[in-house]
This record gives sequence, C-alpha cells and structure tokens, in this order.
Amino acid sequence: MTTITLTKLVADARALANDHPCKSVGHSWETDGGRSCPSFDWVNCSQPVYRCTRCGEHDYGDSGGPGHRHCTTECPHRP
Ligand SMILES: [Zn+2]
Ligand SMILES: [Zn+2]
Ligand SMILES: [Zn+2]
Repeated sequence: MTTITLTKLVADARALANDHPCKSVGHSWETDGGRSCPSFDWVNCSQPVYRCTRCGEHDYGDSGGPGHRHCTTECPHRP
C-alpha cells in the first residue's frame, strides 16, 4: 500500500465519520461584511459577519461564536 492510498483512505474514513476540519482546532474566522444585529435589539448595532476560511461555515451570532462575542464585549452600542 502506498502512502498516497493510505492518505486517501484516511480522508474517506474522516468524511464517513463526518469529521469536521475545524473540530479540534476551532474555526479560522475572518470578517466578511456586516449585518443588523441578530442577537440583541440594540439600536444601530451592526454585527460583523464571520466566515471560516477553512471550512466556509458562517457564524450566525450564536452564543459562543465570534459575532456574539463582539456584541457582548466590543459593541459600542451596548446599553
Ligand atoms: Zn471552520
Ligand atoms: Zn454591535
Ligand atoms: Zn449586536
């Protein structure tokens, strides 16, 4: 068995196991525009939209994500 074949087998096994590429290391967030705040009703709050450069997943402002963190720690519109 060659190394290339083995690598492919491991990749296939991971895909089958639904192994997420960011599961162990976390998403590599990058800002990708902004939107009206989905988390709070603060006037003028514009939450940055984050997108993972590794897997392409978007952050939706859920608790624990970077958008939510922005709103709770950095947002200038907090009451
Ligand atoms: Zn990711
Ligand atoms: Zn904000
Ligand atoms: Zn906000």
